[in-house]
Amino acid sequence: MEYDVIIAGASFAGLAVAAQLRGKRVLVLDRKPIGTGQTSACGTLVSTLRALQLEEAILQVHDQLVVHTPGRTYVYPMPEPFCTFDYPKLCHLLWEQGDAEFVQVPALGLEGQHVLTPKGAYRGRVIVDASGWRAALGASLRPELVRRDRLNFGLETTLVYQDDGLHFWYDPRGLLPMGVTWVFPIGRFSRIGVGSYLGDTRLIRTLDRFLDDLGLQRDGIHGGYFPYELRDPVVDDLLLVGDAAGQCLALTGEGIRPALFFGTHLGRLIRDALDGNLPLDYVKTQYRELVLARKAGYDLLTRLQRLLPRMPMPVVQSLLALVRQPPILQRAMRRYIRAFALPHPEEYIRHHASRSPYTAGWESGNGAALPPSASFPSHQSEDVRG
Ligand SMILES: Cc1cc2nc3c(=O)[nH]c(=O)nc-3n(C[C@H](O)[C@H](O)[C@H](O)COP(=O)(O)OP(=O)(O)OC[C@H]3O[C@@H](n4cnc5c(N)ncnc54)[C@H](O)[C@@H]3O)c2cc1C
Repeated sequence: MEYDVIIAGASFAGLAVAAQLRGKRVLVLDRKPIGTGQTSACGTLVSTLRALQLEEAILQVHDQLVVHTPGRTYVYPMPEPFCTFDYPKLCHLLWEQGDAEFVQVPALGLEGQHVLTPKGAYRGRVIVDASGWRAALGASLRPELVRRDRLNFGLETTLVYQDDGLHFWYDPRGLLPMGVTWVFPIGRFSRIGVGSYLGDTRLIRTLDRFLDDLGLQRDGIHGGYFPYELRDPVVDDLLLVGDAAGQCLALTGEGIRPALFFGTHLGRLIRDALDGNLPLDYVKTQYRELVLARKAGYDLLTRLQRLLPRMPMPVVQSLLALVRQPPILQRAMRRYIRAFALPHPEEYIRHHASRSPYTAGWESGNGAALPPSASFPSHQSEDVRG
């Protein structure tokens, strides 16, 4: 059987694509059952989940972000609330929005329009790689797509610990030279973690020391790599989305909102093409432009991730105090939030009815015009480690 669309990866990005393709012949492949592969603290904006009708998965709402540095704490009231959510529940809610077929099997590579797996080859007209940072399909076509030196790494444990707000600790001379630790509360429990901007995987001792400071002891761990540099989201005819396309943001490590944002838009584009409203080739162009329009923001965060940990603490603290000024905070947060704002379904339908199908609903936030020189990394650029 030939599928209209085959999606490798059934987490945020892959499920967001599938949710937009109800009524089409869609196959989703994942090496694990849906909702069982949580790697993250699952913190995101309430408005993102509301726009996708996923609010039922919310565990706790947070109105403030708190940054702890040695001797000083900075509290940032959020213009829009963040939340922490239940990963399996969110995955199942998103899955139910589509009507795809699911096969639990790893995607190993591509041969033309066939996705190769240990259970045989599956043929699709459109193929999407949403398999996370490894980009299982993209890397099989272009191995240099996945740069090991462009990956952050994080580890977490979930413990009984109650708090309000999303908390980050930044203490380069104490706990971790190039990274942060965090506490993301989820009701009676919290997800407590540590992340390295050098992609260092030896973090268990750091996590234990951090827990020790909080008077806690580790109980299980999860985590993994998350990329901090955009990759080309189109490789030949393959479309990549979420961490597979390097869409996780540097510095903040926020990858869920981009995965849901780009996944939703990519799904809508593919649906338009399958409905005959635009040529399939146009999906590639439009999708690449949607990503490139946000590249300047991505690059800024990558630069900040490299710079901030190298700055003397008093300079970092001055910057943290400056950003707390209400006009600056409001402006910065508004831009950060709008870059991946999803319209509510009714709004989308309204736009869609009145505008060209090629652009409907894509101008959210800072969807700025493409800078003429914007392009994806050549994969030959300098190594930034150390
Ligand atoms: C410790 C940690 C904490 C984090 N906290 C946050 C946070 O609070 N907020 C936030 O926004 N971001 C956070 N992130 C980043 C966020 O988790 C990722 O950016 C996000 O999960 C990306 O979603 P995705 O769907 O692209 O990929 P993933 O969520 O990684 O999903 C990839 C899917 O593909 C499947 N897969 C892998 N290989 C194959 C294959 N060969 N064939 C088929 N399927 C395959 C996997 O099983 C998985 O289901 C965190 C990351 C880490 C590591």
